[in-house]
Amino acid sequence: MALNRSSAILRKVIRGGCSSRTPAVSSYSSSLFNSYSYSIRTRSNSTESDSKGVTSSAAGYHINNGSSYMRGAVFWEPNKPLTFEDFHMPRPKANELLIKTKACGVCHSDLHVIKGELPFPSPCVVGHEITGEVVEHGPLTDSKIVQRFPVGSKIVGAFIMPCGSCFYCSKANDLCESFFAYNRAKGTLYDGETRLFFRSNGKPAYMYSMGGLAEYCVVPAHALTVLPNSLPYTESAILGCAVFTAYGAMAHAAQLLPGDSIAVIGIGGVGSSCLQIARAFGASEIIAVDVQDEKLQKAKIFGATHTINARNEDAVTKIKEITEGKGVDVAVEALGRSLTFSQCVQSVRDGGKAVMIGLTLSGAKGEVDINHLVRRQIKVIGSYGGRARQDLPKLVKLAERGTFNLEAAVSRKCKFEEAVEVYKDLDKGSIIGRAVVEIM
Ligand SMILES: [Zn+2]
Ligand SMILES: [Zn+2]
Repeated sequence: MALNRSSAILRKVIRGGCSSRTPAVSSYSSSLFNSYSYSIRTRSNSTESDSKGVTSSAAGYHINNGSSYMRGAVFWEPNKPLTFEDFHMPRPKANELLIKTKACGVCHSDLHVIKGELPFPSPCVVGHEITGEVVEHGPLTDSKIVQRFPVGSKIVGAFIMPCGSCFYCSKANDLCESFFAYNRAKGTLYDGETRLFFRSNGKPAYMYSMGGLAEYCVVPAHALTVLPNSLPYTESAILGCAVFTAYGAMAHAAQLLPGDSIAVIGIGGVGSSCLQIARAFGASEIIAVDVQDEKLQKAKIFGATHTINARNEDAVTKIKEITEGKGVDVAVEALGRSLTFSQCVQSVRDGGKAVMIGLTLSGAKGEVDINHLVRRQIKVIGSYGGRARQDLPKLVKLAERGTFNLEAAVSRKCKFEEAVEVYKDLDKGSIIGRAVVEIM
């Protein structure tokens, strides 16, 4: 395992991850979905024969003398529909777990990959916000990991999967350089290999995070946390990206304090999670900004004290009005647009923090008024998820106690077979809150 790669490699890697957008105002073309159709290969019940030119080392691998293959949703290339394909059962290696996927959240960063806006190796399986059940541990897995996640235990996974041993993992911030160098840049795990091989021809497919839109997935153990029986599989899936991203932005980037005022621009899955986390942290004014009244209406359930429809009003002016002309202590941009990037910076008070969590087109730039930034001591902070090992267990507790309302956050549940359709709806902006695919 080449875990300690140079920072030069790190700088080159693709920063794929989590974001939320409001597609109603985006320039996204929905055309790629227009002729969407997908085929679902029916699983044969016959015992698998791997005599069809299979080259993968995974050939013939059965779990607990059970299934030797599984289905996954595959992205081939931009403007082409995802298809459902059969894979050999993925095989975990040391300190990795094979998970039977129960649910997978529908996130905009998957959509960025599907639309070719975030370059990523293909064919690949997207989906990075999962819950599931532990099926097996890779050979030579640390005994503490086996104890923590016994076979049959319920888990939730963070989209950042820390290797646990690189410079950033050892600093305990879990912004793992192996994750960027291998998973986000190459679509593999940290030995440089994927765990996914097509059943038809044994060729590899790549993994966006764990490749969660599949019946099984392999996940490095450091990305996982046990899910208590009191929490449901479906709703809890969003803990691993939407809520995790919101928590990272509030706790680490903004370091939000009780009584702080905050504005959140873009009330999608991540933005609405920011509202809930801000409420949990004791923020005073919580201002939700979007262009869809439906999303703003729902924002009140998540803790918004004020709402602004930026289609009808100037968001910066209105935020200043609400805060007696000063601006908010913290503003969050959850769309990944250059216009809202600037609005976010302009909305904070002198010395305030503008936190950016929205991903966008690869290479896109945001503008900042340099003198305003310098003289008013504005802090512009990028934030990418939380700290998997420390934060995910805390999020589970917040959900368990109802401080974070998972049920309200998940607005739509759909079957695995509907995964293509649900990304189409995400693209159209018709999902208010978060959709989750139930895989079971
Ligand atoms: Zn995500
Ligand atoms: Zn690491």
